[in-house]
Amino acid sequence: MKKLVFSLLLSASTVAFAQKKYSLVIHGGAGTITKENMTPAKEKAYTEKLTEALKAGYAELQKGNTSIAAVQSAIVILEDSPLFNAGKGAVFTNDGKNEMDASIMYGKDLSAGAVAGVHTIKNPIKAAIAVMQNSGHVMLAGAGAEKFAQQSGLDIVDPKYFWTKDRWDGLQKLKQKELEKSKKISHLPDYITVDQKFGTVGAVALDKEGNIAAGTSTGGMTNKKFGRIGDSPVIGAGTYANGQVGVSGTGWGEFFIRATAARTVAAKMEYQNKDIATATQEVISEIGKMGGDGGVIALDKDGNIAMPFNTAGMYRGAITQDGQVEIGIYK
Ligand code: ASP
Repeated sequence: MKKLVFSLLLSASTVAFAQKKYSLVIHGGAGTITKENMTPAKEKAYTEKLTEALKAGYAELQKGNTSIAAVQSAIVILEDSPLFNAGKGAVFTNDGKNEMDASIMYGKDLSAGAVAGVHTIKNPIKAAIAVMQNSGHVMLAGAGAEKFAQQSGLDIVDPKYFWTKDRWDGLQKLKQKELEKSKKISHLPDYITVDQKFGTVGAVALDKEGNIAAGTSTGGMTNKKFGRIGDSPVIGAGTYANGQVGVSGTGWGEFFIRATAARTVAAKMEYQNKDIATATQEVISEIGKMGGDGGVIALDKDGNIAMPFNTAGMYRGAITQDGQVEIGIYK
């Protein structure tokens, strides 16, 4: 396995991740995240929130709970934080709404659940888990998904709950840019601009029974139109887990769907015997060649992780099987 070294905020030294065994890996989105655009306070806030999410997920695993419980605990913390583009902090659609997508997959039995285009479910990851466990379906969308979430006893909130100034300003900025038609790639549809920001969250956990779960939750892409659904709720694109590996992606969803990104990582390992570092890196390179960007996190049944990305940065972190937290932000 290739050595994966990334900048650590918690420890002064860089660490070769490959030498350790992990139980949980998370991401908080990839994009134009550079040291120059970051303040020490912001960096600290992200580091602390990622650490909190890792510890919450790890606590579930320590109690002997399933990887599904660990993924839920970690993602709920990120969804409840305005720092990330999921739950509170979700980006705005072109018409000023927050429309969220989420999914989960459980490697033990290949069960899966997803919700798409929801406005009122406080924690979309919980709804995805409820869909997986209790609906008899894999993906529910819009009003139907919200009705199901309500019937499942999940927290329903006024859509205003998701409003944050940062994301609102982000939409206004992007609309202004769209107006100026600046930096537009000519072959792209109107609603996509070059420096669109990402920020989805995801988690992959390995429990004491050796079962893997992967989950992803997002507000999608700023300024999205027409009920656009990204890769995050699409099993095999933004999320995948089987008996061997779990994957969660973040980035330009259209490309992750077309590359069947998450499933392709698993297929490379299953059919081509590639290790987790090679399989994930190849998928990110393929997405890059197609013109897309983003990253994936993956965790295999032996506790190996990989987290490649082709953007300037990706909020990410992992916790070892003995509870050591590691956080990275920049390339
Ligand atoms: N992949 C998400 C989407 O396209 C966006 C992101 O990762 O931030 O909806």
